[in-house]
Amino acid sequence: ASGNVLLRDPRYNKGLAFTDDERDYHYVRGLLPPAHMSQELQEKRLMHIIRQYNTPLQKYMALMDLEERNERLFYKLMIDHVEELLPIVYTPTVGEACQKYGTIFRRPQGLYISLKEKGKVYDVLRNWPEKNIKVIVVTDGERILGLGDLGCQGMGIPVGKLALYTALGGIRPSECLPITIDVGTNNEKLLNDEFYIGLRQKRATGQEYDDLLNEFMYAAKKAYGEKVLIQFEDFANHNAFNLLAKYRSTHLVFNDDIQGTASVVLSGLVASLKLTGGTLADHTFLFLGAGEAGTGIAELIALEMTKQGKISLNEARKRIWLVDSKGLIVKSRMESLQHFKKPWAHEHEPCKGLLDAVKSIRPTILIGSSGVGRTFTKEVIETVSSFNEKPVILALSNPTSQSECTAEEAYTWSKGRAIFASGSPFDPVSINGKTFIPGQSNNAYIFPGLGLGLVISGTIRVHEDMLLAASEALAQQVSKEHLEQGLIYPPFRNIRKISAHIAAGVAAKSYELGLATRLPRPADLVAFAESCMYSPVYRNYK
Ligand code: NAP
Ligand code: MN
Repeated sequence: ASGNVLLRDPRYNKGLAFTDDERDYHYVRGLLPPAHMSQELQEKRLMHIIRQYNTPLQKYMALMDLEERNERLFYKLMIDHVEELLPIVYTPTVGEACQKYGTIFRRPQGLYISLKEKGKVYDVLRNWPEKNIKVIVVTDGERILGLGDLGCQGMGIPVGKLALYTALGGIRPSECLPITIDVGTNNEKLLNDEFYIGLRQKRATGQEYDDLLNEFMYAAKKAYGEKVLIQFEDFANHNAFNLLAKYRSTHLVFNDDIQGTASVVLSGLVASLKLTGGTLADHTFLFLGAGEAGTGIAELIALEMTKQGKISLNEARKRIWLVDSKGLIVKSRMESLQHFKKPWAHEHEPCKGLLDAVKSIRPTILIGSSGVGRTFTKEVIETVSSFNEKPVILALSNPTSQSECTAEEAYTWSKGRAIFASGSPFDPVSINGKTFIPGQSNNAYIFPGLGLGLVISGTIRVHEDMLLAASEALAQQVSKEHLEQGLIYPPFRNIRKISAHIAAGVAAKSYELGLATRLPRPADLVAFAESCMYSPVYRNYK
Protein backbone atom coordinates (compact mmCIF):
# COMPACT_ATOMS: atom_id res chain seq x y z
CA ALA A 1 0.00 0.00 0.00
CA SER A 2 2.74 2.48 0.88
CA GLY A 3 4.17 2.31 -2.64
CA ASN A 4 1.02 3.77 -4.10
CA VAL A 5 0.99 6.54 -1.51
CA LEU A 6 4.55 7.43 -2.45
CA LEU A 7 3.76 7.60 -6.17
CA ARG A 8 0.73 9.79 -5.57
CA ASP A 9 2.43 12.25 -3.31
CA PRO A 10 3.89 15.01 -5.52
CA ARG A 11 6.44 15.86 -2.87
CA TYR A 12 8.02 12.38 -2.99
CA ASN A 13 7.08 11.01 -6.36
CA LYS A 14 9.94 10.72 -8.83
CA GLY A 15 8.32 8.45 -11.39
CA LEU A 16 10.67 6.21 -13.31
CA ALA A 17 13.62 7.61 -11.40
CA PHE A 18 12.94 5.25 -8.51
CA THR A 19 15.84 2.79 -8.35
CA ASP A 20 15.34 -0.96 -8.09
CA ASP A 21 16.33 -0.85 -4.44
CA GLU A 22 13.83 1.91 -3.74
CA ARG A 23 11.13 0.04 -5.62
CA ASP A 24 11.70 -3.00 -3.40
CA TYR A 25 12.09 -1.10 -0.19
CA HIS A 26 8.99 1.09 -0.62
CA TYR A 27 6.65 -1.48 -2.25
CA VAL A 28 6.71 0.27 -5.59
CA ARG A 29 7.83 -2.73 -7.64
CA GLY A 30 5.37 -3.47 -10.38
CA LEU A 31 3.53 -0.21 -9.94
CA LEU A 32 5.92 1.28 -12.50
CA PRO A 33 7.08 -0.07 -15.84
CA PRO A 34 10.54 -1.64 -15.56
CA ALA A 35 12.58 1.13 -17.18
CA HIS A 36 14.56 3.72 -15.26
CA MET A 37 14.77 7.33 -16.26
CA SER A 38 17.04 9.94 -14.73
CA GLN A 39 15.67 13.29 -13.62
CA GLU A 40 17.60 14.93 -16.48
CA LEU A 41 15.93 12.68 -19.02
CA GLN A 42 12.51 13.28 -17.48
CA GLU A 43 13.21 16.98 -17.71
CA LYS A 44 14.07 16.71 -21.38
CA ARG A 45 10.90 14.71 -21.99
CA LEU A 46 8.67 17.19 -20.18
CA MET A 47 10.16 20.21 -21.93
CA HIS A 48 9.54 18.45 -25.21
CA ILE A 49 5.90 17.90 -24.28
CA ILE A 50 5.39 21.46 -23.09
CA ARG A 51 6.92 22.94 -26.23
CA GLN A 52 4.47 20.99 -28.34
CA TYR A 53 1.46 22.77 -26.91
CA ASN A 54 0.28 25.59 -29.11
CA THR A 55 -1.08 28.02 -26.57
CA PRO A 56 0.49 29.47 -23.44
CA LEU A 57 -2.59 28.43 -21.42
CA GLN A 58 -2.09 24.78 -22.40
CA LYS A 59 1.52 25.06 -21.31
CA TYR A 60 0.35 26.62 -18.04
CA MET A 61 -2.03 23.72 -17.40
CA ALA A 62 0.63 21.17 -18.26
CA LEU A 63 3.02 22.79 -15.79
CA MET A 64 0.41 22.94 -13.04
CA ASP A 65 -0.36 19.27 -13.65
CA LEU A 66 3.31 18.47 -13.33
CA GLU A 67 3.51 20.37 -10.05
CA GLU A 68 0.66 18.26 -8.72
CA ARG A 69 2.32 15.06 -9.87
CA ASN A 70 6.01 15.57 -9.28
CA GLU A 71 7.00 18.72 -7.44
CA ARG A 72 10.76 18.36 -7.72
CA LEU A 73 10.61 17.81 -11.46
CA PHE A 74 8.39 20.89 -11.79
CA TYR A 75 10.94 23.02 -9.94
CA LYS A 76 13.85 21.50 -11.84
CA LEU A 77 12.15 22.62 -15.05
CA MET A 78 11.39 26.07 -13.67
CA ILE A 79 14.95 26.63 -12.50
CA ASP A 80 16.71 25.27 -15.58
CA HIS A 81 14.38 27.01 -18.07
CA VAL A 82 13.43 30.09 -16.13
CA GLU A 83 13.42 32.50 -19.07
CA GLU A 84 11.20 30.22 -21.12
CA LEU A 85 8.79 29.24 -18.34
CA LEU A 86 8.46 32.47 -16.37
CA PRO A 87 6.01 33.97 -18.93
CA ILE A 88 3.88 30.84 -18.51
CA VAL A 89 3.70 30.45 -14.75
CA TYR A 90 3.78 34.22 -14.23
CA THR A 91 2.84 37.29 -16.27
CA PRO A 92 1.38 37.33 -18.90
CA THR A 93 -0.12 33.80 -18.97
CA VAL A 94 -1.09 33.70 -15.30
CA GLY A 95 -3.46 36.59 -16.07
CA GLU A 96 -5.32 34.53 -18.62
CA ALA A 97 -5.31 31.57 -16.23
CA CYS A 98 -6.97 33.68 -13.53
CA GLN A 99 -9.60 34.90 -15.97
CA LYS A 100 -10.43 31.29 -16.82
CA TYR A 101 -9.64 29.78 -13.43
CA GLY A 102 -13.19 28.55 -12.89
CA THR A 103 -13.08 26.49 -16.06
CA ILE A 104 -9.53 25.15 -15.82
CA PHE A 105 -9.69 24.58 -12.06
CA ARG A 106 -8.67 21.05 -11.14
CA ARG A 107 -7.33 21.02 -7.63
CA PRO A 108 -7.16 23.72 -5.00
CA GLN A 109 -3.55 24.85 -4.94
CA GLY A 110 -3.93 27.17 -2.02
CA LEU A 111 -6.20 28.01 0.86
CA TYR A 112 -9.54 29.76 0.43
CA ILE A 113 -10.81 31.93 3.26
CA SER A 114 -14.21 33.42 2.55
CA LEU A 115 -16.75 35.36 4.56
CA LYS A 116 -18.28 31.97 5.40
CA GLU A 117 -15.18 31.17 7.43
CA LYS A 118 -15.57 34.21 9.66
CA GLY A 119 -14.84 33.18 13.24
CA LYS A 120 -13.13 29.98 12.05
CA VAL A 121 -10.12 31.30 10.21
CA TYR A 122 -7.61 29.73 12.60
CA ASP A 123 -9.25 26.31 12.13
CA VAL A 124 -9.14 26.78 8.37
CA LEU A 125 -5.41 27.49 8.55
CA ARG A 126 -4.98 24.32 10.60
CA ASN A 127 -6.64 22.38 7.78
CA TRP A 128 -3.70 23.15 5.52
CA PRO A 129 -1.56 20.00 5.55
CA GLU A 130 1.76 21.76 6.15
CA LYS A 131 2.47 23.19 9.58
CA ASN A 132 5.83 24.87 9.10
CA ILE A 133 4.86 27.85 6.93
CA LYS A 134 7.42 30.58 6.32
CA VAL A 135 5.86 32.66 3.54
CA ILE A 136 2.22 33.47 2.78
CA VAL A 137 1.16 35.36 -0.32
CA VAL A 138 -2.38 36.62 0.12
CA THR A 139 -4.77 38.40 -2.25
CA ASP A 140 -8.41 39.38 -2.15
CA GLY A 141 -8.51 39.33 -5.93
CA GLU A 142 -9.73 42.88 -6.39
CA ARG A 143 -6.93 44.19 -8.65
CA ILE A 144 -5.39 41.21 -10.40
CA LEU A 145 -2.56 42.52 -12.59
CA GLY A 146 -4.12 45.21 -14.78
CA LEU A 147 -7.19 42.98 -15.28
CA GLY A 148 -9.31 44.29 -12.44
CA ASP A 149 -11.54 42.39 -10.03
CA LEU A 150 -11.28 38.63 -10.60
CA GLY A 151 -12.64 37.69 -7.19
CA CYS A 152 -11.77 34.23 -5.97
CA GLN A 153 -10.11 33.41 -9.28
CA GLY A 154 -7.25 35.65 -8.27
CA MET A 155 -5.83 32.50 -6.64
CA GLY A 156 -3.59 32.03 -9.68
CA ILE A 157 -1.53 35.00 -8.50
CA PRO A 158 -0.47 33.79 -5.02
CA VAL A 159 0.10 30.34 -6.49
CA GLY A 160 2.34 31.78 -9.21
CA LYS A 161 4.17 34.14 -6.85
CA LEU A 162 4.96 31.31 -4.46
CA ALA A 163 6.17 29.07 -7.27
CA LEU A 164 8.68 31.85 -7.90
CA TYR A 165 9.55 32.06 -4.22
CA THR A 166 10.74 28.48 -4.56
CA ALA A 167 12.17 28.48 -8.07
CA LEU A 168 13.82 31.91 -7.92
CA GLY A 169 14.35 32.38 -4.19
CA GLY A 170 14.87 28.85 -2.92
CA ILE A 171 12.14 28.83 -0.26
CA ARG A 172 11.01 25.22 0.25
CA PRO A 173 7.63 24.51 -1.42
CA SER A 174 6.25 23.04 1.82
CA GLU A 175 6.95 26.35 3.57
CA CYS A 176 4.87 28.39 1.11
CA LEU A 177 1.15 29.02 1.48
CA PRO A 178 -0.99 30.74 -1.20
CA ILE A 179 -4.17 32.28 0.21
CA THR A 180 -7.18 33.94 -1.38
CA ILE A 181 -9.54 35.87 0.82
CA ASP A 182 -12.96 35.86 -0.79
CA VAL A 183 -15.20 38.71 0.27
CA GLY A 184 -17.21 38.56 -2.96
CA THR A 185 -16.63 40.21 -6.31
CA ASN A 186 -18.04 43.19 -8.15
CA ASN A 187 -17.26 41.53 -11.47
CA GLU A 188 -20.69 40.97 -13.02
CA LYS A 189 -19.34 38.61 -15.62
CA LEU A 190 -18.03 36.28 -12.93
CA LEU A 191 -21.15 36.61 -10.80
CA ASN A 192 -23.14 35.37 -13.80
CA ASP A 193 -20.66 32.66 -14.78
CA GLU A 194 -21.98 29.22 -13.87
CA PHE A 195 -18.41 27.97 -13.41
CA TYR A 196 -17.37 30.76 -11.03
CA ILE A 197 -15.67 29.24 -7.97
CA GLY A 198 -16.14 32.05 -5.46
CA LEU A 199 -18.85 33.57 -3.28
CA ARG A 200 -21.67 34.81 -5.45
CA GLN A 201 -22.14 38.22 -3.86
CA LYS A 202 -20.91 41.80 -4.10
CA ARG A 203 -17.73 42.63 -2.21
CA ALA A 204 -18.02 43.18 1.49
CA THR A 205 -16.53 46.47 2.59
CA GLY A 206 -16.01 48.50 5.75
CA GLN A 207 -16.19 46.77 9.12
CA GLU A 208 -17.08 43.37 7.66
CA TYR A 209 -14.02 43.44 5.41
CA ASP A 210 -11.70 44.78 8.09
CA ASP A 211 -12.83 42.17 10.61
CA LEU A 212 -12.16 39.22 8.31
CA LEU A 213 -8.74 40.57 7.35
CA ASN A 214 -7.89 41.22 10.97
CA GLU A 215 -8.97 37.75 12.00
CA PHE A 216 -6.79 36.34 9.25
CA MET A 217 -3.73 38.37 10.21
CA TYR A 218 -3.80 37.24 13.83
CA ALA A 219 -4.77 33.66 13.01
CA ALA A 220 -1.75 33.44 10.70
CA LYS A 221 0.59 34.53 13.48
CA LYS A 222 -1.04 32.15 15.92
CA ALA A 223 -0.78 29.24 13.50
CA TYR A 224 2.71 29.89 12.11
CA GLY A 225 4.46 32.14 14.58
CA GLU A 226 5.58 35.76 14.82
CA LYS A 227 8.02 35.47 11.96
CA VAL A 228 5.77 34.19 9.20
CA LEU A 229 6.17 36.52 6.23
CA ILE A 230 2.90 37.78 4.78
CA GLN A 231 3.05 39.33 1.33
CA PHE A 232 0.01 41.36 0.27
CA GLU A 233 -0.59 40.97 -3.43
CA ASP A 234 -3.00 42.56 -5.87
CA PHE A 235 -5.32 44.25 -3.41
CA ALA A 236 -7.09 47.35 -4.71
CA ASN A 237 -5.42 50.55 -3.55
CA HIS A 238 -8.32 51.62 -1.33
CA ASN A 239 -7.39 48.66 0.90
CA ALA A 240 -3.72 48.10 0.10
CA PHE A 241 -2.27 51.23 1.70
CA ASN A 242 -4.45 50.88 4.80
CA LEU A 243 -3.60 47.22 5.33
CA LEU A 244 0.09 47.94 5.05
CA ALA A 245 -0.10 50.88 7.45
CA LYS A 246 -2.18 48.86 9.90
CA TYR A 247 -0.02 45.74 10.07
CA ARG A 248 3.52 46.88 9.33
CA SER A 249 4.31 47.43 13.00
CA THR A 250 2.70 44.24 14.32
CA HIS A 251 3.49 41.70 11.59
CA LEU A 252 6.26 40.76 9.16
CA VAL A 253 4.50 42.13 6.08
CA PHE A 254 5.14 43.93 2.85
CA ASN A 255 3.00 44.87 -0.10
CA ASP A 256 4.59 43.65 -3.29
CA ASP A 257 2.78 46.07 -5.58
CA ILE A 258 3.81 49.08 -3.54
CA GLN A 259 7.18 48.06 -2.11
CA GLY A 260 8.50 45.19 -4.22
CA THR A 261 7.75 47.12 -7.39
CA ALA A 262 9.40 50.23 -5.96
CA SER A 263 12.53 48.28 -5.20
CA VAL A 264 12.84 46.73 -8.65
CA VAL A 265 12.16 49.98 -10.48
CA LEU A 266 14.60 51.96 -8.35
CA SER A 267 17.22 49.34 -9.12
CA GLY A 268 16.67 49.68 -12.85
CA LEU A 269 16.81 53.46 -12.62
CA VAL A 270 20.05 53.40 -10.66
CA ALA A 271 21.53 51.13 -13.32
CA SER A 272 20.20 53.38 -16.09
CA LEU A 273 22.11 56.35 -14.64
CA LYS A 274 25.28 54.71 -15.96
CA LEU A 275 23.84 55.21 -19.45
CA THR A 276 22.11 58.56 -19.06
CA GLY A 277 24.55 60.20 -16.67
CA GLY A 278 23.71 62.32 -13.65
CA THR A 279 22.38 61.36 -10.25
CA LEU A 280 18.76 60.50 -9.44
CA ALA A 281 18.25 64.07 -8.24
CA ASP A 282 19.35 65.41 -11.63
CA HIS A 283 16.44 63.69 -13.30
CA THR A 284 12.79 64.58 -13.73
CA PHE A 285 10.30 61.75 -13.32
CA LEU A 286 6.83 61.53 -14.76
CA PHE A 287 4.44 58.68 -13.97
CA LEU A 288 1.26 57.71 -15.76
CA GLY A 289 -0.70 56.08 -12.94
CA ALA A 290 -0.66 57.25 -9.34
CA GLY A 291 -1.77 54.13 -7.49
CA GLU A 292 0.13 51.51 -5.54
CA ALA A 293 2.92 51.01 -8.04
CA GLY A 294 3.26 54.67 -9.08
CA THR A 295 3.29 56.30 -5.65
CA GLY A 296 5.22 53.40 -4.10
CA ILE A 297 8.01 53.81 -6.65
CA ALA A 298 7.93 57.60 -6.33
CA GLU A 299 8.30 57.37 -2.56
CA LEU A 300 11.30 55.04 -2.73
CA ILE A 301 13.04 57.13 -5.39
CA ALA A 302 12.60 60.20 -3.19
CA LEU A 303 13.92 58.33 -0.17
CA GLU A 304 16.98 57.19 -2.10
CA MET A 305 17.61 60.79 -3.26
CA THR A 306 17.67 61.94 0.36
CA LYS A 307 20.17 59.18 1.22
CA GLN A 308 22.46 60.18 -1.64
CA GLY A 309 22.69 63.91 -1.23
CA LYS A 310 22.03 66.88 0.96
CA ILE A 311 18.50 67.13 -0.26
CA SER A 312 15.36 67.07 1.86
CA LEU A 313 12.46 64.72 1.24
CA ASN A 314 10.40 67.68 0.16
CA GLU A 315 13.01 68.79 -2.37
CA ALA A 316 13.32 65.22 -3.64
CA ARG A 317 9.59 64.89 -4.16
CA LYS A 318 9.50 68.04 -6.28
CA ARG A 319 11.44 66.22 -9.00
CA ILE A 320 8.70 63.63 -9.30
CA TRP A 321 5.34 64.16 -11.03
CA LEU A 322 2.36 61.87 -11.44
CA VAL A 323 -0.62 61.75 -13.74
CA ASP A 324 -3.80 59.89 -12.76
CA SER A 325 -7.10 59.40 -14.57
CA LYS A 326 -7.94 63.08 -14.00
CA GLY A 327 -4.65 64.49 -15.28
CA LEU A 328 -1.50 65.85 -13.69
CA ILE A 329 -1.56 65.82 -9.89
CA VAL A 330 -1.22 69.45 -8.86
CA LYS A 331 -1.77 71.63 -5.78
CA SER A 332 -5.17 72.89 -6.87
CA ARG A 333 -6.50 69.32 -6.77
CA MET A 334 -5.27 68.77 -3.19
CA GLU A 335 -8.67 68.73 -1.49
CA SER A 336 -10.06 65.87 -3.53
CA LEU A 337 -6.91 63.70 -3.68
CA GLN A 338 -6.58 60.31 -1.99
CA HIS A 339 -4.05 60.50 0.85
CA PHE A 340 -1.29 58.62 -1.01
CA LYS A 341 -1.35 61.18 -3.83
CA LYS A 342 -1.13 64.28 -1.66
CA PRO A 343 2.70 64.35 -1.30
CA TRP A 344 2.92 64.63 -5.09
CA ALA A 345 0.62 67.60 -5.55
CA HIS A 346 3.08 70.30 -6.63
CA GLU A 347 2.50 73.87 -7.71
CA HIS A 348 1.67 73.80 -11.43
CA GLU A 349 -1.22 74.65 -13.70
CA PRO A 350 -3.52 71.70 -14.42
CA CYS A 351 -2.70 69.40 -17.37
CA LYS A 352 -5.41 67.22 -18.76
CA GLY A 353 -3.70 64.33 -20.42
CA LEU A 354 -0.32 62.63 -20.46
CA LEU A 355 0.87 64.37 -23.61
CA ASP A 356 0.25 67.83 -22.13
CA ALA A 357 2.06 66.79 -18.98
CA VAL A 358 5.04 65.46 -20.94
CA LYS A 359 5.32 68.71 -22.88
CA SER A 360 5.07 70.80 -19.77
CA ILE A 361 7.14 68.75 -17.26
CA ARG A 362 9.74 67.58 -19.80
CA PRO A 363 10.60 64.37 -17.96
CA THR A 364 13.87 62.52 -18.51
CA ILE A 365 12.28 59.35 -17.14
CA LEU A 366 8.77 58.25 -18.10
CA ILE A 367 7.10 55.45 -16.13
CA GLY A 368 3.80 53.74 -16.93
CA SER A 369 1.92 52.31 -13.94
CA SER A 370 -1.70 52.87 -14.90
CA GLY A 371 -2.81 49.37 -15.86
CA VAL A 372 -4.06 50.79 -19.16
CA GLY A 373 -2.51 49.54 -22.38
CA ARG A 374 -1.34 51.61 -25.33
CA THR A 375 -1.22 54.89 -23.43
CA PHE A 376 2.38 55.69 -24.45
CA THR A 377 1.36 56.79 -27.92
CA LYS A 378 3.63 57.66 -30.80
CA GLU A 379 3.26 61.31 -29.96
CA VAL A 380 4.13 60.78 -26.29
CA ILE A 381 7.26 58.79 -27.09
CA GLU A 382 8.35 61.14 -29.86
CA THR A 383 7.93 64.07 -27.51
CA VAL A 384 10.05 62.60 -24.67
CA SER A 385 12.61 61.60 -27.26
CA SER A 386 12.73 65.14 -28.65
CA PHE A 387 14.38 66.59 -25.54
CA ASN A 388 16.29 63.53 -24.26
CA GLU A 389 19.31 61.92 -25.82
CA LYS A 390 18.43 58.70 -24.01
CA PRO A 391 14.89 58.76 -22.65
CA VAL A 392 14.23 56.13 -19.99
CA ILE A 393 10.84 54.55 -20.67
CA LEU A 394 9.33 51.93 -18.38
CA ALA A 395 6.01 50.35 -19.31
CA LEU A 396 5.24 48.51 -16.09
CA SER A 397 1.62 47.51 -16.51
CA ASN A 398 0.76 43.82 -16.73
CA PRO A 399 -0.10 41.63 -18.48
CA THR A 400 1.21 42.34 -21.99
CA SER A 401 -2.22 43.54 -23.17
CA GLN A 402 -2.04 46.37 -20.61
CA SER A 403 1.53 47.42 -21.36
CA GLU A 404 1.74 51.17 -21.98
CA CYS A 405 3.59 50.43 -25.22
CA THR A 406 5.39 47.52 -26.81
CA ALA A 407 9.16 47.23 -26.97
CA GLU A 408 9.01 47.66 -30.71
CA GLU A 409 7.04 50.89 -30.36
CA ALA A 410 9.43 52.29 -27.77
CA TYR A 411 12.50 51.60 -29.90
CA THR A 412 10.94 52.58 -33.21
CA TRP A 413 9.36 55.84 -32.08
CA SER A 414 12.46 56.91 -30.14
CA LYS A 415 14.63 56.06 -33.16
CA GLY A 416 16.45 53.43 -31.14
CA ARG A 417 17.41 55.81 -28.33
CA ALA A 418 15.05 54.67 -25.57
CA ILE A 419 16.29 52.76 -22.56
CA PHE A 420 13.27 50.53 -22.26
CA ALA A 421 11.99 47.91 -19.85
CA SER A 422 8.52 46.48 -19.27
CA GLY A 423 6.56 44.63 -16.61
CA SER A 424 5.75 41.71 -18.90
CA PRO A 425 8.42 40.32 -21.21
CA PHE A 426 8.91 41.33 -24.84
CA ASP A 427 11.08 39.59 -27.39
CA PRO A 428 14.17 41.36 -28.74
CA VAL A 429 13.44 43.82 -31.53
CA SER A 430 15.45 44.36 -34.71
CA ILE A 431 15.38 47.77 -36.34
CA ASN A 432 17.52 48.48 -39.40
CA GLY A 433 19.76 45.53 -38.61
CA LYS A 434 20.31 46.56 -35.00
CA THR A 435 18.97 44.34 -32.22
CA PHE A 436 17.51 45.78 -29.03
CA ILE A 437 16.97 43.60 -25.97
CA PRO A 438 14.21 44.91 -23.70
CA GLY A 439 14.60 44.30 -19.98
CA GLN A 440 11.83 43.12 -17.70
CA SER A 441 11.07 45.51 -14.87
CA ASN A 442 9.13 43.20 -12.64
CA ASN A 443 9.05 42.68 -8.90
CA ALA A 444 9.84 39.01 -9.56
CA TYR A 445 13.47 40.12 -9.39
CA ILE A 446 13.00 41.34 -5.84
CA PHE A 447 10.43 39.47 -3.76
CA PRO A 448 12.02 36.00 -3.86
CA GLY A 449 15.39 37.32 -2.67
CA LEU A 450 13.81 39.77 -0.25
CA GLY A 451 11.71 36.99 1.27
CA LEU A 452 14.68 34.67 1.48
CA GLY A 453 16.72 37.35 3.25
CA LEU A 454 13.96 37.99 5.77
CA VAL A 455 13.40 34.30 6.47
CA ILE A 456 17.03 33.23 6.87
CA SER A 457 17.84 36.11 9.22
CA GLY A 458 14.73 35.60 11.33
CA THR A 459 13.70 39.19 10.68
CA ILE A 460 10.70 40.41 12.62
CA ARG A 461 9.68 43.56 10.68
CA VAL A 462 10.23 44.91 7.16
CA HIS A 463 11.99 48.28 7.07
CA GLU A 464 12.21 50.60 4.03
CA ASP A 465 16.00 50.43 4.18
CA MET A 466 15.74 46.71 3.36
CA LEU A 467 13.97 47.60 0.13
CA LEU A 468 16.80 49.97 -0.69
CA ALA A 469 19.30 47.22 0.13
CA ALA A 470 17.47 44.80 -2.18
CA SER A 471 17.41 47.41 -4.90
CA GLU A 472 21.12 48.10 -4.57
CA ALA A 473 22.01 44.40 -4.55
CA LEU A 474 20.07 43.91 -7.78
CA ALA A 475 21.65 46.92 -9.47
CA GLN A 476 25.09 45.54 -8.58
CA GLN A 477 24.33 42.45 -10.65
CA VAL A 478 24.10 44.52 -13.84
CA SER A 479 27.43 44.25 -15.64
CA LYS A 480 29.07 46.55 -18.15
CA GLU A 481 28.17 44.09 -20.89
CA HIS A 482 24.50 44.23 -19.94
CA LEU A 483 24.55 48.01 -20.00
CA GLU A 484 26.24 48.04 -23.38
CA GLN A 485 23.26 46.07 -24.70
CA GLY A 486 20.93 48.63 -23.15
CA LEU A 487 19.92 46.24 -20.35
CA ILE A 488 19.24 47.78 -16.95
CA TYR A 489 18.48 44.40 -15.36
CA PRO A 490 20.58 41.25 -15.36
CA PRO A 491 19.09 38.29 -17.24
CA PHE A 492 16.66 36.08 -15.29
CA ARG A 493 18.86 33.14 -16.20
CA ASN A 494 21.08 33.97 -13.20
CA ILE A 495 18.20 34.67 -10.84
CA ARG A 496 19.16 32.19 -8.09
CA LYS A 497 22.55 33.83 -7.72
CA ILE A 498 20.92 37.25 -7.89
CA SER A 499 18.40 36.24 -5.22
CA ALA A 500 21.19 35.05 -2.93
CA HIS A 501 22.84 38.48 -3.24
CA ILE A 502 19.57 40.28 -2.61
CA ALA A 503 18.89 38.04 0.39
CA ALA A 504 22.35 38.77 1.75
CA GLY A 505 21.89 42.53 1.31
CA VAL A 506 18.50 42.45 3.01
CA ALA A 507 19.74 40.26 5.86
CA ALA A 508 22.81 42.47 6.39
CA LYS A 509 20.55 45.51 6.69
CA SER A 510 18.27 43.66 9.08
CA TYR A 511 21.18 42.75 11.38
CA GLU A 512 22.40 46.33 11.21
CA LEU A 513 18.97 47.59 12.24
CA GLY A 514 18.68 45.05 15.03
CA LEU A 515 15.64 43.42 13.45
CA ALA A 516 17.21 40.00 12.82
CA THR A 517 16.77 37.31 15.44
CA ARG A 518 18.90 34.54 13.99
CA LEU A 519 22.07 34.82 16.06
CA PRO A 520 24.98 34.79 15.72
CA ARG A 521 25.01 36.59 12.38
CA PRO A 522 26.57 34.36 9.72
CA ALA A 523 29.86 35.89 8.56
CA ASP A 524 29.32 35.26 4.85
CA LEU A 525 25.68 36.05 4.19
CA VAL A 526 25.78 35.23 0.46
CA ALA A 527 27.18 31.78 1.14
CA PHE A 528 24.69 31.32 3.96
CA ALA A 529 21.76 32.33 1.73
CA GLU A 530 22.92 29.91 -0.96
CA SER A 531 23.22 27.10 1.57
CA CYS A 532 19.62 27.69 2.68
CA MET A 533 18.15 27.44 -0.80
CA TYR A 534 15.94 24.52 -1.81
CA SER A 535 17.34 22.20 -4.43
CA PRO A 536 14.91 20.30 -6.67
CA VAL A 537 17.31 17.42 -7.29
CA TYR A 538 15.75 14.04 -6.43
CA ARG A 539 16.71 12.56 -3.12
CA ASN A 540 17.48 8.95 -2.35
CA TYR A 541 14.89 7.17 -0.29
CA LYS A 542 17.05 4.47 1.23
P1 NAP B 1 -3.80 51.10 -8.95
O1 NAP B 1 -3.39 51.30 -7.52
O2 NAP B 1 -5.20 50.79 -9.24
O3 NAP B 1 -3.37 52.44 -9.74
C1 NAP B 1 -3.70 52.70 -11.06
C2 NAP B 1 -3.46 54.18 -11.33
O4 NAP B 1 -3.59 54.42 -12.72
C3 NAP B 1 -4.45 55.11 -10.64
O5 NAP B 1 -3.79 56.24 -10.15
C4 NAP B 1 -5.42 55.49 -11.75
O6 NAP B 1 -5.99 56.77 -11.63
C5 NAP B 1 -4.47 55.50 -12.92
N1 NAP B 1 -5.17 55.37 -14.18
C6 NAP B 1 -6.09 54.44 -14.53
N2 NAP B 1 -6.51 54.66 -15.79
C7 NAP B 1 -5.86 55.75 -16.23
C8 NAP B 1 -5.86 56.46 -17.44
N3 NAP B 1 -6.63 56.10 -18.46
N4 NAP B 1 -5.05 57.54 -17.54
C9 NAP B 1 -4.27 57.91 -16.52
N5 NAP B 1 -4.21 57.26 -15.37
C10 NAP B 1 -5.00 56.20 -15.22
O7 NAP B 1 -2.93 49.98 -9.60
P2 NAP B 1 -1.40 49.58 -9.32
O8 NAP B 1 -1.35 48.59 -8.22
O9 NAP B 1 -0.58 50.79 -9.19
O10 NAP B 1 -1.07 48.79 -10.65
C11 NAP B 1 -1.11 49.44 -11.89
C12 NAP B 1 -0.48 48.57 -12.96
O11 NAP B 1 0.87 48.32 -12.62
C13 NAP B 1 -1.14 47.20 -13.16
O12 NAP B 1 -1.27 46.94 -14.53
C14 NAP B 1 -0.14 46.23 -12.59
O13 NAP B 1 -0.13 45.01 -13.29
C15 NAP B 1 1.15 46.97 -12.81
N6 NAP B 1 2.18 46.53 -11.86
C16 NAP B 1 3.37 46.10 -12.35
C17 NAP B 1 4.35 45.65 -11.51
C18 NAP B 1 5.68 45.20 -12.03
O14 NAP B 1 6.45 44.58 -11.30
N7 NAP B 1 6.01 45.49 -13.26
C19 NAP B 1 4.11 45.62 -10.14
C20 NAP B 1 2.90 46.09 -9.65
C21 NAP B 1 1.93 46.54 -10.52
P3 NAP B 1 -7.08 57.15 -10.53
O15 NAP B 1 -6.30 57.15 -9.22
O16 NAP B 1 -7.50 58.51 -10.92
O17 NAP B 1 -8.13 56.12 -10.57
MN1 MN C 1 1.01 42.36 -8.08
